[in-house]
Amino acid sequence: MSPHPQSLHLLGTLILVAAAPCIAQTRCEAPRNPVFAKYDKLDITDGWFEVYRLPGGVYALFEPRQAEQVFSYLIVGEKRALLFDSGFGIGHIDVVVKRLTPLPVLVLNSHTHYDHVGGNFAFSEIFGVDSDYTRKSAQGKPNSLMADMVSPRLTCPPLPADVTPENFSIRPFRVTSTVFDGQRIDLGGRQLEVILTPGHTPDALCLLDRAQRQLFTGDTFYPGGLWLFVPETDLDAYQHSIERLASLASSVDVLRPAHNLPEADPRLLAKVAEALPQARAGKVPFTIRNDRRVYGFTVFSIVLANPK
Ligand SMILES: [Zn+2]
Repeated sequence: MSPHPQSLHLLGTLILVAAAPCIAQTRCEAPRNPVFAKYDKLDITDGWFEVYRLPGGVYALFEPRQAEQVFSYLIVGEKRALLFDSGFGIGHIDVVVKRLTPLPVLVLNSHTHYDHVGGNFAFSEIFGVDSDYTRKSAQGKPNSLMADMVSPRLTCPPLPADVTPENFSIRPFRVTSTVFDGQRIDLGGRQLEVILTPGHTPDALCLLDRAQRQLFTGDTFYPGGLWLFVPETDLDAYQHSIERLASLASSVDVLRPAHNLPEADPRLLAKVAEALPQARAGKVPFTIRNDRRVYGFTVFSIVLANPK
């Protein structure tokens, strides 16, 4: 996600929010995608998150009332649990996590854009990439940059009682352990493999659960408009990463993305790997939105900067 979002990566296409009040209302009243009905929605919440039980000891922690439609995932082993992203920091993800597991919890971020690190401050064990980008993100983001994220334009009421556009910020956090490519994180009875996938950001990574045949893709892939236009995005690196992920697609049955829906078809990774060079070469039609080029494909679109 971008530090200055004027549009949202919602399903299929990018939806403009310039005409805010009326579109926001439509969004708040939109029916939930039928995919959600496949999963048990638990009666556990802090009033902000919705929690869905996924197969294989995984919980999806969803923020339906913020326009970015962010998912974080709690992956539970026998000895400890891993929280893959900590959301916006609007709700109290630590409270939700405590209600889901008594085990110690380590946090690993799919990348450190603010919509995925907002709850980090509430945890003491945080794994992260050794990069300048991560260190900068760990300083948090002030209210002056974050106020709009909780404005009526981008949220559906009610906000948690302690959150207002006047006080909301991304709080700083401290990475306590560095992760490396190929690292296996042992949760007791289950191992998760770290796959560094720079591109969307320099510190983007995915998490592979070979035994449960699922791949947690963060913002490297989700159904919707793939944001590849911000300064910290490296398109060559992204291409390499998405090709690498596509080569793993046969090892998994499902993707667990960080936006919009809690599942996606692994075969889409190869489609993105194929689509991006076409978009970059100008071989497919695009529309201009918010001064960005949106290349539409089935299930996803590619959003690139519009060269001046
Ligand atoms: Zn994001």
